This record gives sequence, C-alpha cells and structure tokens, in this order.
Amino acid sequence: MKKKLFLIWREEKKLCVREEDAMPRRPILAANWKMNLTSNQSKLLVDSILNNLGAPVNCEIILFPSFLHIPMIAEKIAGKNIGIGGQNLYFEEKGAYTGEIAAFQLVDSGCTHVLIGHSERRHYFHENYETVNKKVLRALSAGLKVMLCVGESLEERENNVTEMVVVDQIESAMQNISHKDMNDISIAYEPIWAIGTGRIATPDDAAHVHQIIRKALGRIFDKEIASKICILYGGSVKPDNIKEVMAEEDIDGVLVGGASLKTDSLLELMRFLN
Ligand code: PEP
Repeated sequence: MKKKLFLIWREEKKLCVREEDAMPRRPILAANWKMNLTSNQSKLLVDSILNNLGAPVNCEIILFPSFLHIPMIAEKIAGKNIGIGGQNLYFEEKGAYTGEIAAFQLVDSGCTHVLIGHSERRHYFHENYETVNKKVLRALSAGLKVMLCVGESLEERENNVTEMVVVDQIESAMQNISHKDMNDISIAYEPIWAIGTGRIATPDDAAHVHQIIRKALGRIFDKEIASKICILYGGSVKPDNIKEVMAEEDIDGVLVGGASLKTDSLLELMRFLN
C-alpha cells in the first residue's frame, strides 16, 4: 500500500522511479532542532504539526529535538507515525561517563532514531571515524534507527576531494555493519559549507554525491541495499528550494535545520513531501 502511494507521489511531481529500482524509497523529512527551542516552543511546534498535518502518510517525518524534550514530544506523537530521535549518543553501553546519554536511555525515552556523525559533532566535539562507527554499532544494538551524516568541508570541495572524503566517511562508519543492519540506516549528505549558511549545493552537485554514496554502498554491501537505502540532502533546505532538491532522482529526502524551527516553513516543507 505504501509502495503504491509512493509511486503516486512521484508521478504527480513527474518524478518516475527508475525501472531497475528494486524498491521505491519513501521520502523522509528530518528536522534537526539542534540546541534551540524551549520546552514550550518545541511543544507548540509539535502541536502545529499534529493540528495541521495529522499523521503523515506519504513521507516519513523524524524530529530530532533537544534530549530534554524527547519524553514530552514522544508522548504527543505516539501513534501518529512520526519518528523521534536523539541528536547524538555515547558509544559505551552505560556507566561512569558524566554528562553523556546512552542508547538504551534514548530508547527508554521513546526514541526510534538517532542522528550520528553530524558535522557539528565532528567539528566541535572531535568525533572521528572510529567514534562514529562505535556510535552506529551501539545505536543499532539498542534497536535505534541511525541517520548517519556525511559531508565535505569547503576546503575539501575546493581541493576536489569531496568524493574521497565522503566515501571514507561511509566506509569507516560501516565497519562491522551487517547487511541486515542496513535496513535501519539512512544517510544524510550534508556539505558542511551549506549548513546554516544559506548556501545550497546545486541539485546536480548534490545528486552527484548521492550517486557516489549509493555506488559505495553497492560496493560495500550489494546492489539491492544501495537501491533501497534513503539518502537525504541537508544544507539550507527551505520551502523555496525543496522542489528542485527533491526533483533529483537520487535524493530521497531532506535533513533540515534552520527552516524546521519555524512553524510556517516546517509545515510547508512537510506539505510538499506529504
Ligand atoms: C543541519 O544542521 O543538519 C542542517 C541541514 O542545517 P540547515 O538546514 O540550517 O542548513
């Protein structure tokens, strides 16, 4: 049933799924609220989603609020077909790690997902290939779905090493990940220079990197996994550019920061995908 709805969504927008695609991919809208919003502001934003959209049908919506607001939001969205995740976790199972959040605690608070390897974490908190991989493994073992972020810096893009950087990030994060685990992983390609800057990768450039990622996954796993996995684009996505971003065949959704913090733009993005 979902498969059919997905095909209709694509056809309405004149975006046909490639024939060789083993499985059409359901679009995802992920909202990363970062270190923003009070509890009341988060509540109001969630209320406006529920009042205006109800439960999404044609797309998957995943909210990444502050850790502190997760239980309150998880309760509100229960049964509404909306996912909720932490913006990070710690890779150890539990114990004396003051200030950290464990995977089992995210699950216990109602999380379905977790964001791992966001460029802000890699940059400000020195997450590296090894810690990102450990976090992915911990999240999966706790039953969370992982949204893995990858992307190059402006310097790397200007030095023409985007492909190498992104493939390295993917290969290192996928160490010891099984074919079965891949059912619970999506990838967000976020060129660092496009995050929060108002600059957006051209849809062609973004689509090119998405193809590289899909090809790398085909090489690491197999063709079916590469064709099934959702690869999102992130970096200054807004209501006035989502159409051109989503028009690219290999872009299966969007990870949105700034524009997901305001009711109007968030609803507009959701309406477009749903
Ligand atoms: C992000 O941080 O994941 C992001 C894409 O932010 P923005 O939409 O503000 O560029």
